[in-house]
Amino acid sequence: MSEMTDTDTRPRIALDAPQWRDFALCRVTDPEAFFPETGENGRPAKRVCSGCEVRDACLAEALAHDERFGIWGGLTAAERRKHYPKRHR
Ligand code: SF4
Repeated sequence: MSEMTDTDTRPRIALDAPQWRDFALCRVTDPEAFFPETGENGRPAKRVCSGCEVRDACLAEALAHDERFGIWGGLTAAERRKHYPKRHR
């Protein structure tokens, strides 16, 4: 029987490594609060975001993927638009 050796030196991604979403505080709250109806201010969701440890990662992902709906990283879509370069608005 031959002994198996691991000669693959490529970097590996641990598929079971925790992702920022695993720490999202909104996972344990009412998801509808994060998609306020027109005229609602989203304050309840923003309050949750203010205590969320992955807020920066969440906002960065929303900006990277141009999320048009919902509250991400404590900001509404309109508030996130201020983070984009002018040509993107
Ligand atoms: S910052 Fe993002 S991940 Fe955290 S509670 Fe708010 S929406 Fe959820």
